[in-house]
Amino acid sequence: MLKRIIGTISIATSLIMLIAFTGKKPVVHKQKPVLGTIIIDPGHGGMDPGTLGSYSRESRVALAISLKLGKAIKAAFPETKVLYTRTTDILPGNVKTLKESYYYRSDFANQSNGDLFISIHCNAIGKKPGGWYEKKVVSYKNVTTGKGKKKKTKKVPVYKSYYVKNTHKGTETYIWAADRVEAKGDAINQRQEESGEKTDSTISFDMNSPEARIRAQLYAKKYFAKSLTLANYVEEALEKGGRRSYGVKQRNEEGIWVLQATGMPSILVESGFLSNTEEEKYLNSEKGQNDVVAAIITALKKYKAALE
Ligand SMILES: [Zn+2]
Repeated sequence: MLKRIIGTISIATSLIMLIAFTGKKPVVHKQKPVLGTIIIDPGHGGMDPGTLGSYSRESRVALAISLKLGKAIKAAFPETKVLYTRTTDILPGNVKTLKESYYYRSDFANQSNGDLFISIHCNAIGKKPGGWYEKKVVSYKNVTTGKGKKKKTKKVPVYKSYYVKNTHKGTETYIWAADRVEAKGDAINQRQEESGEKTDSTISFDMNSPEARIRAQLYAKKYFAKSLTLANYVEEALEKGGRRSYGVKQRNEEGIWVLQATGMPSILVESGFLSNTEEEKYLNSEKGQNDVVAAIITALKKYKAALE
């Protein structure tokens, strides 16, 4: 008993001394929750269909996956608040232009005080979804022209047309390239060919304004590492689930401008190629969509455990 009293007194004394010394009450910093509020951003929408498959459009596939993801997050993390930038096939906020839609996405995430931003997209590559016809030389034949002394024989190729299947498939997750902060002003308008993202090249963002620079530095300092961690977990989980993974890609193009405009860790998941017939079917199926969602949930669990 006495020990307890002495103990209590000494704790009280230390507290008083601490208050006296620092001049203020000891403050316990309340850390922002890792998964307090998650903003889910289905890519594109409405007048911006995104990439087109043989029969489906990115804006709708991304929306279907996003809505399933929101439900799964609520089930896996009951404490987490889930918000969507859009829940129907419209541009977020029902704005009229693509540029406004980018601003809407980031403003919405920031005003909602999100702790994480997840954008869902689908990819495309090649000349046409599904495949296309090409010609190749299969043999040569002799063709004779002219008569008498002008008679000439030459070899001409014989072509056959054949179908080229659009076989490229798999996933990749994008994060904003923090190490290219300085070069960003120029780089943002250069569309990078390897990315399947189609954006309106007439859009340009002022990346050199003081506000944009501060935002970019803040991203590099506070959110880049977390974004990278989560992006790696997502690709790992997708690959474990049997998908082909191209891993995490760092970009600074305008198609993913939104990733650094949201003041929070942010990733953009390219869930697969609509230009590949099998993958388009898969991404339009319940199983395919649930698989993508399950991988993101696995990643979120690891992310939460790693950061807490
Ligand atoms: Zn997209």
